[in-house]
Amino acid sequence: MSAPLPLPQAPQPYILHDIAVPQALLRDLPGIAMTGGMEGGLVRTSLGVAAGRICAPDEIAEALQVPAGGWTALPRLVEPHVHLDKSDTIAETGAGDGTLMGAIGTMGAAMRDWDDAHYAARMSRAVKEALTAGVGAMRTHIDCMDLPEEQPGWRAISEVAETFAGRMQITPVALAALDRTRAENFDTRCAQVARAGGVLGAFIGPDGADPDLLDAFLAGAERHGLDVDFHVDEHLRAVPSATVALAEAVLRTGFAGRVLAGHTCRLGLMSADELDRAVDVIARSGIAVASLPRTNLYLQDRQAGRTPTRRGMAPIHELAARGVPVVFGTDNVRDAFFPFGGYDLLNLFADAAYSLHLDDDLGGWLRAVTDVAADMLGLGGAGSVRAGAAADLVLLPARNWSGILTTRPEDRTILIGGRESAQSTLRDLPRKEAAS
Ligand SMILES: [Zn+2]
Repeated sequence: MSAPLPLPQAPQPYILHDIAVPQALLRDLPGIAMTGGMEGGLVRTSLGVAAGRICAPDEIAEALQVPAGGWTALPRLVEPHVHLDKSDTIAETGAGDGTLMGAIGTMGAAMRDWDDAHYAARMSRAVKEALTAGVGAMRTHIDCMDLPEEQPGWRAISEVAETFAGRMQITPVALAALDRTRAENFDTRCAQVARAGGVLGAFIGPDGADPDLLDAFLAGAERHGLDVDFHVDEHLRAVPSATVALAEAVLRTGFAGRVLAGHTCRLGLMSADELDRAVDVIARSGIAVASLPRTNLYLQDRQAGRTPTRRGMAPIHELAARGVPVVFGTDNVRDAFFPFGGYDLLNLFADAAYSLHLDDDLGGWLRAVTDVAADMLGLGGAGSVRAGAAADLVLLPARNWSGILTTRPEDRTILIGGRESAQSTLRDLPRKEAAS
């Protein structure tokens, strides 16, 4: 492993000299293209850091020179889809049967016993783990079968978001089945989500979505100025796509908020013609798609004693080719939906890189966990390396993609506002609960 970068301990201007940055993430600053076998899409540049912000090196008169050859800088990563309320519970619940519906049953029964403190402790551990890996913002779904403010998980995430404010931007999504839109208190649900600065979420099962219900859901969100986030088409049945129904509802209603459609596994089963028509509607609606490769590989096409062949992956190349924003999320961590994994989003991106064949443009696809994800989460301007932005960076002791995608969190240097101090204080915190 490389020696640590000699960063200044006191707040003073410095220049990260000769550092690599993905071209797709570098804005308003010059770079020289790198050309080695695993360096495609990377450029060499030098980044000034002054008053907590990135600037051109020639804007700083007297700066400490930090030689950073051998290192790569990324913006802090943006996690668009996790479930912190379920995090780290596999030892307690036991594994389900490895299917989505099995996991929903296992988790639903266990969640009834957990209080605010149980949720908050696990959520805090998860956030620290993400912080040390270089994540700077997370959107987390929180199950809210009843009104959010009556849910221990919703109360706990508010408390945890406050604790980590300034280090991690946390946005909660109130998740419930779409048919909760019919409940008398649906408008109160929307008001409570708005009060928490949250997002209105819905789960749409394989039976699809009633268009009137989708319209009512979007109307409620619109009244309260909310963005919306769906679990949709998370199955491999040859039934009408609810993602297409959602896109049609957005076009029909002219919904003004941001719409994120998570999973969309069912789209991957379509014939080329059918997919072409589906992607056309999705692209025109302006909705974005969250691909969640780990849980889909784990939960989809499972049958005891048979090797899975239908891998449940959203057709991200076809969607992106038509301009649909695509983001990658970690989804579940060490719970009945996915008993493995962690909150290192760069490691999740590495899994996406091979399972979804992103090799041709790793730098471009990295936008799915940086600036495209930031735009989708309403954090416009975050997730890129540009002059004037906060110096919120992940520095990796690697200079090509095979190195970048295999660094361990403990080898990375995290800068928040240009200072390393936050990472060094976080490094000693417990990163995960020991499996019992
Ligand atoms: Zn999810």
